[in-house]
Order: sequence, then C-alpha cells, then structure tokens
Amino acid sequence: MLYKTLVLLYEKLDSTSKRLEKTYHISQLIRETGKDDLPLIILMVQGKMYPEWEETKIGVSSKLVVKAINKATGISEKDIEAEWKKQGDLGLVAEHLIKKKKQSSLFPKSLSVKNVFENIRGLSSLGGKGSVDRKLAAMSELFINATPKEAKYIARTLVDNLRIGIGKGTLRDAIIWAYFTEKLGIKYDPEKISIEVDDREKYNEVVELIRRGYDLTNDFGKVAVLLKERGLRGLDEIELKVGTPINPMLYQKAEDIDDAFKTVGKPAAFEYKLDGFRMQIHKKGRQVNIYTRRLENVTSQFPEVADFVMGFAKAESLILDAEAVGYDPETKKYLPFQAISQRIKRKYDIDEMAEKFPVEVNVFDIMHYDGKSLLDEPFRKRRAILEKAVLQKQQKIVLAKQIITEDAEKAQKFYEESLKMGEEGVMAKNLEGIYKPGSRAGYGVKIKSILEPLDLVIVAAEYGEGKRSGWLSSFILACSDNGELKEIGKVSTGLKELDNEEGTTFREMTGLLKPLITEPRGKYVKVRPEIVIEVGYEEIQKSVNYSSGYALRFPRFLRLRTDEKTVDDINTLEDVERLYQKQRGRDK
Ligand code: AMP
Repeated sequence: MLYKTLVLLYEKLDSTSKRLEKTYHISQLIRETGKDDLPLIILMVQGKMYPEWEETKIGVSSKLVVKAINKATGISEKDIEAEWKKQGDLGLVAEHLIKKKKQSSLFPKSLSVKNVFENIRGLSSLGGKGSVDRKLAAMSELFINATPKEAKYIARTLVDNLRIGIGKGTLRDAIIWAYFTEKLGIKYDPEKISIEVDDREKYNEVVELIRRGYDLTNDFGKVAVLLKERGLRGLDEIELKVGTPINPMLYQKAEDIDDAFKTVGKPAAFEYKLDGFRMQIHKKGRQVNIYTRRLENVTSQFPEVADFVMGFAKAESLILDAEAVGYDPETKKYLPFQAISQRIKRKYDIDEMAEKFPVEVNVFDIMHYDGKSLLDEPFRKRRAILEKAVLQKQQKIVLAKQIITEDAEKAQKFYEESLKMGEEGVMAKNLEGIYKPGSRAGYGVKIKSILEPLDLVIVAAEYGEGKRSGWLSSFILACSDNGELKEIGKVSTGLKELDNEEGTTFREMTGLLKPLITEPRGKYVKVRPEIVIEVGYEEIQKSVNYSSGYALRFPRFLRLRTDEKTVDDINTLEDVERLYQKQRGRDK
C-alpha cells in the first residue's frame, strides 16, 4: 500500500472529532489492506511502531527531527525552530517547509507504507558511534521523498505524537466494521453519523471475542490478520501463552463494604490492598519473565524475584499476578510505592538496588499452572491452587493476606486494620469469579478511604520564577471524558525543590516533561499527555475555569504514576462527578 493512502486516512481522522466517523474511516482502510500490510497499518494508525509491551522505542528527539528537516530542505535549523515556535507542531512545520524545499529531488519516489515503517523502525536499531548521522540520513531520505502532506505525518510519527487521538475501543470497532459489516448488518449513516446494527446480540458477542483476543495478545495486528484469513474461528487459535503478557484483570471501585458485597456476592474474599506495583510473573522451566501492569518487561530489573519464583514456586510453568511491595531492609516495615519506584526503570547497579530497596512479592492470583490455563476457573479454586503452588517465605514471596466472610462487621474490621497498617484499603473478590483479562468485570472491587486521590495526566505546564526559574513548576491536569481530556486544575505543591529531599523534585519533573513539549508558548507549554500523577486535594468544586466543569481545591502532588498508568488509565469525569456527589452527601 502507498503511504499516501494512509495519509489520506490521517487527514480524514484529523478533520473530525466524532468517534463513529473515525471508526468508519479506519474500517474502510482496514478492509482494503492486504495481510502483509495489515499489522503495519494497525500500528501506524495509532502512530506507533511497536506494540506497547515491546521494549524497543523509536528514540528520536524533536531536535533530531529538526536537523533531519534541515538536511532534507537546506533551510537553517534556526529558521525551522522559529517556524516550530510559531506553529507549535513539527508536523505542520515539515509540511510547510517541504512544500518550499530548496533541494527538491527531481524524481521523488512514491513512498510505500512498508518503506516508511521499515525506515522508522530501523532508527531504533541504530546505536553506537556514528549512529546519529545514520539516523539523520535515514530520516532526511524519508523527507526528501515525501510529499508535504506525507512529511507532516512522518514528522508527527517520529516525535511520537500523531495528534489524531484514536483509542483502543475505536480500533476494535473499526476491525469489526471492516470484517463484519455484512454479517452483522451494520449500517453506517454518514449524514447523521450514526450506526444501526441488525443483530446487536451477535455484535456484542463479536466485541467480546475480539476483546478477549486482544487482551491475551495485546496485538490488534495479530487479531486482525486472524480475522481476515479465517474469520472468528481464527481467534480460537489465541490462547494464554506462558511468556506472552496478558492485560491484567482490573477492579471496579466500591463505596464501602456493603457496596462491595453487592457487587461480588456473599461470602467474599477480602485482601489487603497493598501499595506496591503490580507484577505479572511468567515461569517456564528455568525461564522467568516479569511484566508491569503496563506490560513493560522488567525481568532484568528484578533478578531476585526470579530467584524467589525459582526457589519457592512448585511448578514447571505458571503465571502469577502479584503486588511487589517495598520494605525497609532494617525494620522490615512496608514502604510506600514511591520508595521502590526507581527500580522499575533502572538499567545498572541492579544488585545494589535490590539490596537497598528490597521487595516482597505478594501473590494474589494465578492464571496458569503446569500447562493449564486457569482463566476460566473460579477464584476459589485458583486460590487453592496458588496455596499449593507457592511456598511462602516472608520478605521474599508470600500470598496476599486473605479472609473469607459474609459478615459485614468482620470485613469492616479487616478494612480498618488494613488502613491502620498504612495500607490503601482492601480488595473484595467474588469467590466464583473467573479471571477476565483486561476488564473491570466486577469479579473484584477495591475499597479505598474516602476522597481518594485522583490519577490525572499533565497536559500543560508553566515555568516558575525566582527560586524555581528554569523549572516547570506548575502543572495543568486533566481527567478523561470518553477518551477526551478535560482540564480540572493546576498543581504546584508537593514536589520538592532540593535534590536531596525525598520525593519527586521540580528538576526531575521538568526533565520528564521537556521532551514531551508540543507547543512552547513563552512561559506556558503544552505537553503530550503522558505523565500520569496521583493528586490529593481537600475538595472538588464546580468551576467554570476548567473544561471539566470542576476544580480541585488545594491540589497536591502525591506521586508519579507513570510506571503503572498511561493516559488510558486516568480517572474519568464520571469518577470526578461521583466523588463530588459523595462529598456533598458527606457534607450534609
Ligand atoms: P488501582 O490501582 O487503584 O486501580 O487498584 C488496583 C491495584 O491494586 C491492582 O492493579 C494491584 O496493583 C493493587 N493491589 C494491591 N493488593 C492487591 C490485591 N490483594 N489484589 C489485587 N490487586 C491488588
């Protein structure tokens, strides 16, 4: 397929904010894409080059893209940067400058999707001496052969900001529309931008099957190829595989113990909700792989965890769901997540880190045991298998502390005990519930103390003054409203000024945000919404100042959540509304 066909789709997606319209356009392209290009198209529509859980990243900075445009057009870097400041989007800059490029090649070749994909992917494998020059050469070759519109999207893909915002749900629906329009009687009306489906029930079944396929592979490309070649039956081939991470099961919120019983039934299992980070552990023979909640591979960062599993798990193969919790090596007391968070990204001095910041693995679920998937087994049975499969050893690997009760008072006591111990609250789990990857199916709920902090994403920031000049020092936050980001406030307290203070410093935060800047406007900068933080506050108020309609009173930065959460996981406007109502109830 020619790249310009994909660019045509990008342009259509750019011109509408309506989800159904986007779904329709994407589905049309998927329908006409051949098997070989399909996995590429599926990634590139999302502006990606690799599935999320792959460790490889494109790894070029905006600055390098500016240099590549310079090399392709002959226009000075200074002029390109001036244009970038004006336009606020390197994509538009590339488009504009390629249009008036000085070194136009006489016979630009037509770029194919594969050319662009392979060229950009190739960048991440270039390392070592001379690699910057080779990256520059590869990128400028793309720009030289690109039409202005193509250059716009190549630049945006390179800086990892396609700006057309399609979510996983849209992509899933587009795949369904591409292959099941006739079978399910899907009728899209482009005038009214609405759809009708003849067979809703069947439609929902197909959604479920495709969701399952995705949650077990994290790869819509693979799902689409199977559907194209073999229809729904193709998906049967997708099974839980030791070594391939699955999307972890998520938990809904419950207001209190009674509310929890309503969702998970009686009796229920209650477990402490520990404040660490989620670890999905795969073991096969002597091979152990460890993934975070976002399915990043952190095996090499936690060699001791692999040893615990080898030493204390009695199975040839298994997949465990666990919370890794840091503890003080002296007092053995649990520490908040923040204390061990630095281990997740650490690339060197691993053993020293493991000694300084040890973790205890609290296992709370098992999805595979000795060659058998346990996804469809009830939690009661999974826990029983877990008790057999894992020998417990304090400070190394233990099972989540659990009680089973139908007595609200006992559960309440357990909950209060957990809060007293400094934990976040409790989880309540349905004993008959299966393990449903990737969804908040209601087989488990979390109960946290009232006015729980919010997970929000930083969408913009402002440079500080005086002592804080040179740092980004206040951060504009957003929640999500059906995939759209809505601003809800601005936080500047809670971060530290001095490097030797414990916690995140302004300097670190500035370092995280700078590469994400998309629109520098003097002191105010817009950033790509990637940095998720946990924010505490005194109260939620109605407000006309922010697009969400709400504002946080006395917001306070609590901690970075980037290792566990992406913009897809932040709190929703619905959550904010619920908390607002709850707080009103409490105030009465
Ligand atoms: P939240 O991050 O607020 O959505 O809460 C869910 C998270 O709590 C899970 O992703 C786990 O990382 C964590 N967690 C802590 N203890 C448990 C437990 N016993 N069972 C399940 N999840 C737990």
